[in-house]
Amino acid sequence: MNALIFAVLAAAVALAYYAYTYTAEVASRQSESEVLKELAEEKVSNVEFKVAADDEALLKAVRIDELDKLGEQMRGAAEQVTSVFVLDAHLQVVPGGSTSLRDADPKEAIERRDWYLANVIPKLGLQKLQPNQRKHVYGRRDDRPFLLAFMHKQLGDRTYYVVVEDDVNRLVGGELFHEVFDLSNHKRLYQVVDERGQFAYGVMFPLRGLLVRVNFDTLDGWAVRVTEEDDPALDDELHRKHIVDSVLIGGAVTIILAGLAFLALAIRRERRANELKSDFISNVSHELKTPLSIITMFGEMLANGRTKSSEQATEYAEIIYRESVRLDRLIENVLDFAKIERGMGVYEFADAELGEVVTRAIDLAARRLQTAEMTIDVEIAPELPIIKLDANALTLAVLNLIDNAIKYAAAGKKIAVKLAKDDHRVVLSVKDWGPGIERDEQVRIFERFYRAKAMRLKPIRGSGIGLALVQHIARAHGGDVSVTSTPPDGSTFQLWLPI
Ligand code: ADP
Repeated sequence: MNALIFAVLAAAVALAYYAYTYTAEVASRQSESEVLKELAEEKVSNVEFKVAADDEALLKAVRIDELDKLGEQMRGAAEQVTSVFVLDAHLQVVPGGSTSLRDADPKEAIERRDWYLANVIPKLGLQKLQPNQRKHVYGRRDDRPFLLAFMHKQLGDRTYYVVVEDDVNRLVGGELFHEVFDLSNHKRLYQVVDERGQFAYGVMFPLRGLLVRVNFDTLDGWAVRVTEEDDPALDDELHRKHIVDSVLIGGAVTIILAGLAFLALAIRRERRANELKSDFISNVSHELKTPLSIITMFGEMLANGRTKSSEQATEYAEIIYRESVRLDRLIENVLDFAKIERGMGVYEFADAELGEVVTRAIDLAARRLQTAEMTIDVEIAPELPIIKLDANALTLAVLNLIDNAIKYAAAGKKIAVKLAKDDHRVVLSVKDWGPGIERDEQVRIFERFYRAKAMRLKPIRGSGIGLALVQHIARAHGGDVSVTSTPPDGSTFQLWLPI
């Protein structure tokens, strides 16, 4: 029990420890992912700030009154800027208000510009912009991503719109991304994906472990993804740790459940034992009281000389003697049982023959057999081996078996006792033709204090310790006792001892 309590406690401590480490791990993962998120946010705002600043500088640099110097004004524009054009209030390109910075063939810039004018510009709601207000739009033309920044400019009472075209591919492939995302860092891996989730820049990495994503503002749907480098050795170790943890947690849970189940069982058993014990006390008290009152009654009669003849006096004396023997047997049973229960060494082994023990027990029971009007068949095999045994204890055991047959199976009128030898055992069987014992009770009758249900209803008194004692004695000799019975055709008790 102590070991069990210790095991359950240890298992509970182990579980508590795992719960703690798990929470700590979740917390550390959370703070780790917060760090990653902050880093990614910083990168995104770096890029956006720079792009916005570039576009703004350019939008401001364009002077509507000096459009002939547009090319000059554009000099030094950031590398992602591919063209600039100026529209009037009716969204028409102002003469001379269109310039390309990076196209080998200026026609391409004009083609793109016209495409914007037809497909993008009308949807922008440029006319709603306040003077000097800026905006941007992201989109794709023939799969190529672009970013347009535009601004409302006022010259006197005339309205103009300046549009700056950024080539997103140039931006991604350019200095800025290179500076912002440090690809030589092997601990943190950055990756830029476009609005279709396709890889656009950075390091390719598999989708597992910690991953944080931060969206761009200007580039609609674009995002930075960042992860911590996976260490394969660490991965392996984690995997192993995971398996060990699972096994240990499973073990701890099993131990706790098994401990609880065992405890519940022990409590039930204890409760049953207590019930049986109180039955036992009332039974034994009654068992003691009956012979005592008989002895008192007949003793008193003898003492008062209230006998008609000397035969009657002898008969009374015999009754007193018989009841005293019965009392003695019961007390002996109870005392022996108590000794055994306390675990005291009660046996004294010596060389003897079991046949003699059985004959002695039958002699002791002779008178009771006679009173019960029962006959006994005895068959003892010749030349039984000498074995080490405690003759007194075994006599008590055999007497208990015969007494039970007299007590419960008197109606069968007959008992058969047989002692034989097989390969390496001597087997004693005590057979009766009484009511028998129900199958589900055949094991339980050997428990201390247990009495069969059918017998509890009859006025046959008993203590329920006789067969427990028989079993203990048999096992102390290295043997055992068992019963076979098919009610209502009697029972056969078999007690065997090893040779
Ligand atoms: P007790 O006889 O004092 O009740 P035992 O341990 O000797 O206690 O027996 C336990 C129970 O086994 C008895 O109460 C009885 O129900 C049953 N039993 C024992 N021997 C026989 C038998 N020969 N025939 C029928 N039932 C028996």
